[in-house]
Parts: sequence; structure tokens; C-alpha cells
Amino acid sequence: MTTKRFTGRRAVITGAARGIGLATAARFAEDGGSVAVIDLDLAAAQEAAKAIADEFKTVAVGVACDVTRKDQVEAAIEEVAAKLGGVDILVNNAGITRDNLVHKMSEDDWDMVMGVHLRGAFLCTSAAQRHMVAQKYGKIVNLSSTSALGNRGQLNYSTAKAGLQGFTRSLALELGRFNINVNAVAPGFIDTEMTQQTARRLGHDPEEYRQMRAKNIAIGRVGVPRDVANLIAFLCSDEAGFVNGQIIYASGGPETRR
Ligand code: NAP
Repeated sequence: MTTKRFTGRRAVITGAARGIGLATAARFAEDGGSVAVIDLDLAAAQEAAKAIADEFKTVAVGVACDVTRKDQVEAAIEEVAAKLGGVDILVNNAGITRDNLVHKMSEDDWDMVMGVHLRGAFLCTSAAQRHMVAQKYGKIVNLSSTSALGNRGQLNYSTAKAGLQGFTRSLALELGRFNINVNAVAPGFIDTEMTQQTARRLGHDPEEYRQMRAKNIAIGRVGVPRDVANLIAFLCSDEAGFVNGQIIYASGGPETRR
């Protein structure tokens, strides 16, 4: 059997039944890793895990978990550790948007977005780091966004994504001594259900919206989930062992204020 980049590594990816999370789980599996697909819906998580296991001939498990619920997160990480034999990699990817201008934004819109992105990343990290600290090895990647730099109509999301940057830097300082790397990726526009929903909400056809957005991207196209998955895989590889506490933008161009 050939040894690949993630042979023997066990990766947990939240919100991985579709989009960037699914592409990331598949990327780890392609390079020999075992993966846990965590998502709200058990059937969707299991279906994604089965497709990955069948395609890449690796171990993949689907686990239902709402990342905002401590009891569910603790149980999910323990289930994954038991089924995969441990946890080496955590990707805090689960995310939602509840966009609105400040005067129309409800408390629920604010709390839900903070809950999934910030509380979710905190709870998953708390549970997973125990395994990583004990074995003195781990990789954590958090999903930030170019929206962290400010985006009209995304006060809650932008604040949460900026929060994840501070979370990443502080965690890197705390966990570095245990040989755990913590970094964040900050994607620009990636074609997923999330951005397609945004297009529909703004009254655009998703394809028309993609073309419109691509015009403002230096590289001349919008991103696809695998663009982000490739970067996450690099940050979780041992080649990136000296990269710690960094926020890497993946947006087809340098970040400027929009
Ligand atoms: P997506 O297609 O909407 O997928 C997000 C996944 O997260 C869904 O499967 C969703 O499950 C799951 N999820 C939501 N709330 C959850 C919870 N409480 N517990 C567990 N899972 C939950 O989104 P995406 O575009 O792939 O985005 C992935 C990450 O990248 C997010 O953090 C997003 O903010 C970030 N990001 C995306 C873009 C972009 O342009 N797409 C850009 C920058 C950053 P359900 O389907 O059941 O709700």
C-alpha cells in the first residue's frame, strides 16, 4: 500500500454533508486519511461519508451533531474517536448566514450566527483538543471569510468571521507547545449552496450572480469548494508544520476594501 499525505490521520470536519466541508472531507480521504463527516442531518452525513468511503476506499463515518449543543458535540467527538481510533485534525467549517441590515436584524439572526460559528468552533475545539494534547499532535483549521473585513448586510456573519480570526491566533498561542497547529482560511466567493441562497435572496439567478461576482475577482472566476479544500489540506499537512496562527485568504486576489 502506498503511503499518502494523510495515511493514518483521523480528520473531523463539521458541516461536511455538502459544500466546502464535503470537498475537504473528500480531499483528506483522497490523500489516505480517515474522516468523520459531522452535520446536522444524520442521513445527509452518512450519505456523504458512504460516498467518500466508496470513492477513496478509506474509513469515513457520518455523525449527526448540532455544533452549538455541548452535549451533542462531546458525544460526537467521542463517537468519532472510538470509531476512527482518535482525532488528529479538526476543521471548524459548519456555518450559516442570516443576512440583514442592522435595523432589520433580529436578536435571533445575531444569536444563531454567533452560535454556529463562534460557540460551535469553541465547543468542537474544546472536545477535540483533549485528544490532540494527549498525543502531542494536532491540526485545527477554522473557516473565516473575506466578510471579516466588513460586508454590508452581514453584520452578524462578518463579526463572527472576524471573531474566528482572534480565536485562531489565541488558540495557536495556547496549543502550539503541544505540537498543535491552528490556522484559519478566509475564502472569498465560493460556489456552494450558501452563496446560491444569497443569490436567490437578492433576486438573482445563481449563474448570473456567479458571473457578476467573477468580474470583481482578479483571477477572473469565482471559487469552487476544492479551491478551499486544497488549502485546508496543505495547512493540515506536515509540510505546513511551521505555519501557526495564520489567516490565509483564498479569494482569487489580494484583499482590498470592497
Ligand atoms: P453550506 O453549503 O451552507 O454548508 C454548510 C453546512 O454546515 C451545511 O451542511 C449545514 O447543514 C451545516 N451546518 C449548519 N449549521 C450547523 C450546525 N449548527 N451544526 C452542524 N452543522 C451545521 O456552506 P459552505 O458555503 O460550504 O460554507 C462552509 C463554511 O465556509 C462556512 O463556515 C462558511 O461561513 C464559510 N465560508 C463560505 C464561503 C462561500 O462563499 N461559500 C466564503 C467564506 C467562508 P444544513 O444543510 O443541515 O443546514
